[in-house]
Amino acid sequence: PAEPVADQSEASLTSSYVPIENLTAIQLIDEHKQFNESVLEYIGGTGVSATGEHRIVAVFGSQSTGKSTLLNHLFNTNFGVMDEASRQQTTKGIWLAVSPGVSCTDERKAGPTDDKIVVMDVEGTDGTERGEDQDFERKAALFALATSEVLIVNLWETQVGWYQGANMGLIKTVFEVNLSLFGRIKLDSASDHKVLLLFVIRDHTGVTSKESLSATLTRDLLKIWDSLNKPAELAQLRFEDFFDLAFHTLSHKIFQNDAFVSDVKLLGDRFVDTKNLDYLFKPNYCHNIPIEGWTMYAESCWEQIDSNKDLDLPTQQIMVARIKCEELASASFTEFEQTYAILYSEAQKASESQVPLNYVHIGQALVAAHLGALSDYDIGASKYNQDVYTHRRELLSEKVLAKLQNIVLLYAELLTASTVSEFEAALTKRTKSITLVDAIEAAKKSFVADYKRDLELLSVEGQIPTDSYTERLQAELQKIEGEQKIAEVNALVNKYLRKLQTSLNSAVQSEISKASEETWDNIKERYENLQKTLLSKVRNSDGKYDFGIGSESPVTEIASQTIEYKSWETLLAAIAKFTSKENLFNVLKDRFDEKFGYDANGNPRVYLNTTELESSFVAAKNAAALVLPNLSTAILSDGNKFQPTVNLNSSFLRRKFESVASALKAGAGAQEDESDSEDEENERNFIEVVSEDDQQEVLRKFKRETDAIFVARKGAIVQSRTQ
Ligand code: GDP
Ligand code: MG
Repeated sequence: PAEPVADQSEASLTSSYVPIENLTAIQLIDEHKQFNESVLEYIGGTGVSATGEHRIVAVFGSQSTGKSTLLNHLFNTNFGVMDEASRQQTTKGIWLAVSPGVSCTDERKAGPTDDKIVVMDVEGTDGTERGEDQDFERKAALFALATSEVLIVNLWETQVGWYQGANMGLIKTVFEVNLSLFGRIKLDSASDHKVLLLFVIRDHTGVTSKESLSATLTRDLLKIWDSLNKPAELAQLRFEDFFDLAFHTLSHKIFQNDAFVSDVKLLGDRFVDTKNLDYLFKPNYCHNIPIEGWTMYAESCWEQIDSNKDLDLPTQQIMVARIKCEELASASFTEFEQTYAILYSEAQKASESQVPLNYVHIGQALVAAHLGALSDYDIGASKYNQDVYTHRRELLSEKVLAKLQNIVLLYAELLTASTVSEFEAALTKRTKSITLVDAIEAAKKSFVADYKRDLELLSVEGQIPTDSYTERLQAELQKIEGEQKIAEVNALVNKYLRKLQTSLNSAVQSEISKASEETWDNIKERYENLQKTLLSKVRNSDGKYDFGIGSESPVTEIASQTIEYKSWETLLAAIAKFTSKENLFNVLKDRFDEKFGYDANGNPRVYLNTTELESSFVAAKNAAALVLPNLSTAILSDGNKFQPTVNLNSSFLRRKFESVASALKAGAGAQEDESDSEDEENERNFIEVVSEDDQQEVLRKFKRETDAIFVARKGAIVQSRTQ
């Protein structure tokens, strides 16, 4: 009785592509040896997922030995089978179908699985037809071995032990093309790649055991192997280097259909049950081409085979890996760019708002973005050639990190700015109990440590270099440290100068009012003593300055120069203030009043006659006038001049020593420039305290006033006499 033909098989005879929902096979390579481009679309529609594995199985054998029938029963595919009634041949070529589920004894395993099995049915020629079709047979064998993991060799039980005709030729072809494909690889590297030859013995009667049939087949296969014409360099390679063998017997489908069906299920177990002792798939059978790359790989292999070029599998696999890994990497990068855009705008927003940032979270987001891009890539790419995969992965990682670096830059700038201002605040708000230098050291230590910690969080696990940021921070802190030291010293200098001014004013005033020949000795002594006392806190016993910023600091040296200059300036101002014409007049007048108005005991004097009045008046006037030359020239009692150690006439120096900071800016060795020469005209001689003209003016006024007093007194005496 004829086996009823499945409806779908009709379709497969006429169309090279029918959607998978119809569970129809697709013609991968047609009778004109053309590769079917729509196979990619077909595979895409089968639900072979990126995460699930896929296995590739091909069947090979002489025409009409029930290959397609077996595949359809085993893998639930719909390859065309010969119509028993019309004896019509199925279309030649290589057919492909994705198994929707494998028939097996355990019903639970029979349904769709994650691991898809891609099945290829090779429709060859009838054993009797020869000639140009041998070419197709050989090409089909090459193609099947280059792409699949398990090769089913289908034969009748009656054929076992008989090695003539089609079967002999077929096995020989398989061995030869296998050598040409994998021979070189075996020699070059310690490749453990093998192909499983699964002999399915049909119409098994049971008279001869499976073991016995297997032994016969094995022995005969080895015989064929030995009889092969192998190239000299491959001569030492053994059968077992290339092949694993497996056997399965099936009962006669037409006479013992039930037994046939259960035998097929037992075979199915060996394809799906990984715990089965006879489980067929081994990792070293696969070609390391995930299904996404498989059609490209298959097409490229077929092109090479069909144009009779040497099929170099590693090159093919690397070619496919390059293209696919590149595609996957750029897809993953495109995806990453969206994450990047979000993270970047967050970073920009952070720069605008003043909210404190959580660098742990930011760092984690950056790490996640990097890892996310890589793991997106890994999902598809890790199954390709490992060298190509890892190389492209590194490039992707670098590209992602280079992008993330822009974000790190933004945050690092924020971090630097906030660290700098916190550092500055810590120094200005420090308690007076610790010195500036100690405060700087402590603040630096903790701020730099915090900064480095946050920077480390931003560095995507150290993959983005951040040393330059730390260096920049150090430089900024250094700048602030310098400014703080200058400000500190400036404050100390100003405090000293204020005290000096107050003290000098009263000292100079009192010395000038009790003017004598020792006035300038006294002023000098008091000036020097005041300096000594007021500077005692910033000078040690040997006169060296120490402002608490280290005596070696250039700031210390400049500050000491500033103090010297400013002290003299302060003294000059005090002297100028108390030697004004009005003040000098008052000094003279006081002297005069003292002598003229009081006696030696300090009692008011009463003049009874004009003679007495006149002599006293002259004496008092002369004594007072004597003070003027003493005050007018700063000469010490030993005859030496009392004069400053600095040039107070230079406007350059005046500007330079305005503050410690300005003195530092002007520099220690800076020279007076040309524009200052105009000052020479107004140059004052320090020791000439009061000019000749001013002295005369004071004397004239003094004479006028005292004469008036004299006239008044004399008038009073005369009047009292006449009363
Ligand atoms: P293929 O050319 O090898 O793919 O063979 P087909 O699957 O098209 O089947 C060829 C013929 O063999 C069909 O008429 C089937 O009914 C028949 N056939 C299928 N399986 C068996 C089997 O197990 N035993 C026998 N004797 N005939 C079978
Ligand atoms: Mg067939």
